Amino acid sequence: MISACRSLPPVADAAGRTRPASGRREKQLVIRGGTVVDATGARRADVIVSGDTVREVCEGAPVPAGATELDAGGCLVAPGLVDLHAHLREPGDEEAETVATAARAAALGGFTAVVAMPNTDPPVDCAAVALEVLGLASGAVCRVAVAGTITLGRAGERLAPMGELASLGVRLFTDDGAGVQDAGVMRRALEYARGLGVTLGQHCEDGALAAGGHMHEGAWSSRLGVPGMPAEAEEVMVGRDIALCRLTGGRVHFLHLSTARSAALVAAAKAEGLAVTAEVTPHHLSLTDAALCGYDPTFKVNPPLRTDADVLALRSACARGVVDAVATDHAPHPSEAKDAPLDTAPPGMLGLQSAFAVTMAALAGGPNGASVSSAGNGGDVPPMEMRAVLGLLSWQPARIAGFARDQGGDQGGPIEPGAPANLCVIDPAAAWTLDAERIASRSRNSPWLGRRLVGQVRHTVFRGEAVVVDAEAQR
Ligand SMILES: [Zn+2]
Repeated sequence: MISACRSLPPVADAAGRTRPASGRREKQLVIRGGTVVDATGARRADVIVSGDTVREVCEGAPVPAGATELDAGGCLVAPGLVDLHAHLREPGDEEAETVATAARAAALGGFTAVVAMPNTDPPVDCAAVALEVLGLASGAVCRVAVAGTITLGRAGERLAPMGELASLGVRLFTDDGAGVQDAGVMRRALEYARGLGVTLGQHCEDGALAAGGHMHEGAWSSRLGVPGMPAEAEEVMVGRDIALCRLTGGRVHFLHLSTARSAALVAAAKAEGLAVTAEVTPHHLSLTDAALCGYDPTFKVNPPLRTDADVLALRSACARGVVDAVATDHAPHPSEAKDAPLDTAPPGMLGLQSAFAVTMAALAGGPNGASVSSAGNGGDVPPMEMRAVLGLLSWQPARIAGFARDQGGDQGGPIEPGAPANLCVIDPAAAWTLDAERIASRSRNSPWLGRRLVGQVRHTVFRGEAVVVDAEAQR
């Protein structure tokens, strides 16, 4: 295939001399021999990065002298992945994770941006804590944005100073870990959010219906004698917030949808033209409540793993555009906390490093579909194209987070001359094992620990720097 090179023209200074755009000699990087995949399509091309910017996208480009070469043979070269939902645990629970360790895990997972959930200790319900997290993130190996809480202390009563937080660049607000129980509070929050042009992320869980539950309420919870959380605990809040969205004109993003009927409600709301978006996690696309048959707390998450039918409905919702994003809900817990009986262990599992492989297996099929999945083979849900899967992990969440280029951001955009160099290079056929030494997080609570996965992030480029090379973190 012959393709014309697309490159940035040299910049002439006042005297007519050409020089690099920044006026100094910049580090150059060549990503060689891959297939460039972004929202505009897929094509074979090398990508030349100079400084923090893509300079040229072209097959067989001459390598500039002194440039570092990254081999991308057999690989997809995509905009960096964007995670809307990660628990970085700092401040307050640095034993579980820190901003720096989570960012390294994110980079190894191909992510160049993550949104840090605000349920830290103290929570991100004021400018001081938001600034603390942003300060911790300033030298990190991926972009870390903070979400703010909807209510003070995540107590569900009084609104957090959303305007003040928005002025610091916060675009997403959530009391994640809990849903906003009071419909009146949620209505006021949506009215306020609409005025500010920000989005509210809802953890849909009716506290009264879910109280005391440790897994999905159904056949498996009955058999195991474990108190359950009914699907309806999620669905009543999805339905309520769709109604409040209609009432206020505010924007709601549904976090970690887990049931078939939740997806159906979101599909109907979108058909009506309401401003709703939704995410699912890799684990809700691949595991069911049957995984709890051995009472292993690794599989305890909130919302809980559901049924085969729910998993298949969520995969179908991804394929039909009902679900906009795959988000990890990366939730580190130290083994002292997680290695406990099911009823006392905290919910949550790691997600950043395994996200691509697990999502690809669930949605695009392929050789490890069975090995990562306790759900049926999904024969009635046709596999998605890899580009559509990457859209769920990159450019679609980038838009929800306000990171897209036309929103003034630097993530998820087409790979073209002038684009910010936030990229990932993924070998969809490479097999690897998520062993303990590979995990960059401070915690180890992954159900895929020691499991063979297919689909490996080979290189990650963040602001022009190769922060992951050949699946190894560079700093
Ligand atoms: Zn949540």
